Amino acid sequence: MLKVKKIIVGNWKMNPLTLKEAEKLFLDVAKNVSSLKKTEIVICPPFPYLEKLRKISKKIVLGAQDVFWEEKGAFTGGVSAKMLYNIGARYVILGHSERRAMGESNFDINKKIKASLEADLIPILCVGENFRDETHAYFNSVKTELEECLDGVKKDFISKIIIAYEPVWAISSTLNHHSATSDDCQEMNIFIRKVLADKFGVKIKMPRILYGGSVDDKDAGDFIKNGGIDGVLVGHASLDALKFSKIVKICEALNK
Ligand code: PEP
Repeated sequence: MLKVKKIIVGNWKMNPLTLKEAEKLFLDVAKNVSSLKKTEIVICPPFPYLEKLRKISKKIVLGAQDVFWEEKGAFTGGVSAKMLYNIGARYVILGHSERRAMGESNFDINKKIKASLEADLIPILCVGENFRDETHAYFNSVKTELEECLDGVKKDFISKIIIAYEPVWAISSTLNHHSATSDDCQEMNIFIRKVLADKFGVKIKMPRILYGGSVDDKDAGDFIKNGGIDGVLVGHASLDALKFSKIVKICEALNK
């Protein structure tokens, strides 16, 4: 069976403030990871930096943090999947909890996923519950997100998508956030596969599944080794070139 390549994704969110800082951060990571071969490295900076960063390194693939579903036209403020592809982006983070908190619905995300696939951009679909309690209703909230966001997506496309399990209570920007464990991650990983198999059939090729939520160089190894996942989505720690490179190196070492 073909081995699935592990992937580390950095989500810079709305950082850094200047192009100069963005170039330095990107270049520092590029230098640190230049000899690595087995791990796919993706960095998702703010839109205005994409084109400049593309010229710095071929090793690091670029991703965007959002997209609009229409291709072009009178949609003020919108950026289309084709535009992103044309300037060199190959991935796009969709359904991030910070965007959902601004009002984005599963229905919007579904349209963005379809438009991205159409333009050959790989969607990194974020799903994850806001909190957990003893009723275990969190399984249902992840199931609903998956079912609604992927509704009508052709089953052949499912393996192209990346699913990032990001429990909102573990993301560094959430007030009073606390860490998930690799067991939490493993359990949800199995559940996500079950939901996809139920919806698209047991024969589908599964997508890569990542974990995200305050991952840093201290716990990345545990998540990758024991969480049953194909990599991690890193927010805060991706703004530190050394920490992010260390996470990539840990993944590379585990990727035997
Ligand atoms: C994220 O917001 O996608 C994320 C994983 O953030 P952090 O690592 O900062 O929790």
